[in-house]
Amino acid sequence: MIEQEKLIFVGTSDISGKVRGKAFPAQQFEQRAHRGVGWTPTNVQITCFDAIAESPFGALGDLLLVPDPDTHVDVIFDDQSASESFMLGDVTLLDGTPWSCCTRSILKQALKRLNDVAGLSLKAAFEHEFQVKDAHRPLGDAYTLGGFRAEADLLGTLMAALNAAGLTADTIMKEYGVDQYEVTIAPEMGVRVADAAVITRELTYASALYLGEQASFTPIRDPAGVGNGVHIHMSLLDSQTGEPVMYDGDQPHEVSQKAGAFAAGVLKYLESFLALTAPSAISYARLTPHRWSAAYNNFGFRDREAALRICPVTDQSPEALASQFNLEFRASDPAASPYLALAAVIHAGVQGIEEGMKTPDITEEDLSLLDEASLASRGFIRLPQSLPEALARFEENKTVRSWFSEEFCEIYLSHKRGELEFVASLDEAGKCAAYENVY
Ligand code: GLU
Ligand code: MG
Repeated sequence: MIEQEKLIFVGTSDISGKVRGKAFPAQQFEQRAHRGVGWTPTNVQITCFDAIAESPFGALGDLLLVPDPDTHVDVIFDDQSASESFMLGDVTLLDGTPWSCCTRSILKQALKRLNDVAGLSLKAAFEHEFQVKDAHRPLGDAYTLGGFRAEADLLGTLMAALNAAGLTADTIMKEYGVDQYEVTIAPEMGVRVADAAVITRELTYASALYLGEQASFTPIRDPAGVGNGVHIHMSLLDSQTGEPVMYDGDQPHEVSQKAGAFAAGVLKYLESFLALTAPSAISYARLTPHRWSAAYNNFGFRDREAALRICPVTDQSPEALASQFNLEFRASDPAASPYLALAAVIHAGVQGIEEGMKTPDITEEDLSLLDEASLASRGFIRLPQSLPEALARFEENKTVRSWFSEEFCEIYLSHKRGELEFVASLDEAGKCAAYENVY
């Protein structure tokens, strides 16, 4: 009997939000960590449906996909068969320079700008919702112990896998939606925040598969139901001292001026970068009022319908309050690569700091009750209601485009337009089914 070769997969979470890559024998670890594996430019145009969107590269060119050993996940589910061994990496030119469409390098660039412009670094955590496919649990399970118990094996396995992968599993629960669950991990620093988000999704898929189930990270499964959100909890730290800078007990709702400027930038540019954080044809069915997602560009105090939410803090001392204080970006979903979603939010926030913006008005109300004129008079807008609309805003906004290379912007637009073409003939339910198949 031959023994299976131990393989390590190196992947990039690309524009489609999928992790694509290649595997190599584990014994090549040292050399591959340095040299990477060969990669193809046109791969970036493979949509979530495997159709290839218009590509300027055609069949030409070569790149490298170079693993970052710090991201190595090596989880053994079962001695007999199931194990996961993968690393995440950067896509580079053959000389090692970052490729303009490498999502991980795009995030590193955004983090560098945050440090260069504002002297700040990012501590953050992704909160993920997903659904178990074909579980068909009856209604009545929202947040219940019964709903938790129904998937206790999966949830326990997933938490163990996350810990084994070096992440700190935080909480896990039965969410509101049918067969919907939510997993949260502890915050990480810098690029590791998005690495951890990718690892969380992949280990969720792997844990489900190990148990003979399937998990779905589709943005919304049923147009009449709730969506699967990705909420990004962010705290900014002084890069020199490591001290949190978002909390100021003397300001309204304790939002420091720096946090306020960051928030203002995010909300000013949200309509023009939304195509990066809510990037699928069905993402906009989720971003509608009364689904606890985000429909307006508002800064909400403990409001689960705000695009950016001031989260509750429970500690007593000012130091503990400051380190707990965080802002939650809610207008994103799991069709987006965590690297791109986070890069877009950071760039927007830094833009706000660079422009010296003031803390936006903080809302504690249902904005869907206001008519357009009242919204406009207070500086609020209804966010784009379709991907084509969001892509057009992205295409038109020179500031947002300047955060990325021109090559990336053009590639992104044609990738997403290719994806839209693929589902163009389907009705909303058909689109939801198509996305559920691939996420
Ligand atoms: N499912 C909601 C969303 O699409 C979030 C619900 C919650 O507040 O956790 O973002
Ligand atoms: Mg939730």
